[in-house]
Amino acid sequence: MEHTVSLPVAEVLPERALPPVSFIPTPSAPYRQHRKASQLVFEPGRPRSALDAEPVPPTYANGTRVLMWKQDPSVGEIGARKAFLPGIVLDGPRDARIVFGQPGISPVPPNAFGDFVTMPDTPQFDAVHTFAVVRQTLTMYQRALAGGDSGTPLPWQWNSSVDTTPIEVFPYGLPNIMNAFYSRSQCCLKFGDFIPTGQNERVYTCRSFDIVSHETGHAVLDGLKPDWLLADNPPQTGGLHESFGDLTAIFLSLSQLDQCEAIVAQTKANLHDKTFLADIAEQFGLALGRSNGLRNADNDITLSQAGTEVHALSQVFTGAIYDILADLFALERDPAVRDDAAVLHEMGGYLRGLLLRALIASPEHAPGYADVVNHMLRLVTEDARPVQYRNAIRNRFTVREVVLSPVPLDQDHVAGVGLEAAVRDAPGAVQDRRACCGTMNLAEYFALDHFIDDELQALAQWCAAHGRSGAPPALPSDGSPPPA
Ligand SMILES: [Zn+2]
Repeated sequence: MEHTVSLPVAEVLPERALPPVSFIPTPSAPYRQHRKASQLVFEPGRPRSALDAEPVPPTYANGTRVLMWKQDPSVGEIGARKAFLPGIVLDGPRDARIVFGQPGISPVPPNAFGDFVTMPDTPQFDAVHTFAVVRQTLTMYQRALAGGDSGTPLPWQWNSSVDTTPIEVFPYGLPNIMNAFYSRSQCCLKFGDFIPTGQNERVYTCRSFDIVSHETGHAVLDGLKPDWLLADNPPQTGGLHESFGDLTAIFLSLSQLDQCEAIVAQTKANLHDKTFLADIAEQFGLALGRSNGLRNADNDITLSQAGTEVHALSQVFTGAIYDILADLFALERDPAVRDDAAVLHEMGGYLRGLLLRALIASPEHAPGYADVVNHMLRLVTEDARPVQYRNAIRNRFTVREVVLSPVPLDQDHVAGVGLEAAVRDAPGAVQDRRACCGTMNLAEYFALDHFIDDELQALAQWCAAHGRSGAPPALPSDGSPPPA
């Protein structure tokens, strides 16, 4: 016979004055204590036997909780919050794909619950925060491809059947440097810290949700399109890489329901109102005296204004995608039926997957913006999305001078019609990466070795022309200088 709980609360907690008649199960401390006591006495758990079908997973195997900045320390709108990372995270933190690797700082152990909840402004917190943002970014893009032909692991650029090396994360990898980078040759992400001029407090780029996800975006795209990061591509290809970093920060915010809710409240559901979503790297921007973060995705820059300057070019692409997001959100929102935050979360997820699939479908070398736009138009048609999706993509990229529309923008885009590129890179145009992040300025992506090879070859030719042909005179075996 099943035993039911009938123990009066007053018997368990005689000191407490509780309602004599009605039993109200609110989760107050006395009630929780009562439940605990009655469960211990009257509701012992059924012993599990080897015959049970479901094994009991250890606590940590269900996932782990982390405490992290949801934007950065300067964005009070959302602050620091706990987040849940599904999957196994071990001391470090580390998992199969990502490893904390800062020399001089001991790996952070999980607490008794398998969680990584530490105090802000400590190396332990920075290690956990940085790991968590990289993990969330990779998971987000893995989910975007889940179920597709491409599979989901999303390898790092160096991964192969014989090399499954994870990416290493260095939160303090660039002391006194106002920058951060992804390095393919070092298989790592490194983050700088600095004291802004005229200020006392150090700014840590690893504490920025936007900067960490931006650099992780470079790493994810490099795993998919290894040629695109090389500087001998046309300027628009560089712009795609840099833009993908900024859009990764935006998509990662939109992938988190608490951030969607904060954005809706902050903007009253108008994404063109000022919001931390469009402001990229707020604390870094403040250090430079900018009120809109390091970059602002809600901009009006066009291709002809950007020229060959890759950072400005990236803003054109980012701005167009941001405008499309705002258009689709305005189109799909219906507060009488669904919560705005839920719609924003869904639109962010769709647009993120759409962009990622369009990038994967684009050429392996030297893609221009129009290549990606035409794949986006094709994919929304294949996804059977309403015509307004195609119109928004065509219109926003037409206004940015990326494509030419064969019809006025108030007419519908006809499915299957490809669009010509409007402003193209000039033949032989060279990327100007100076205003980009640290990744885009790393020598390893510039193929500089041939400059050294050229100089060595010129030296050899000069030697030959000046009587220094052949092998140098051999040293005598006793080590004394050769005869003059
Ligand atoms: Zn970048």
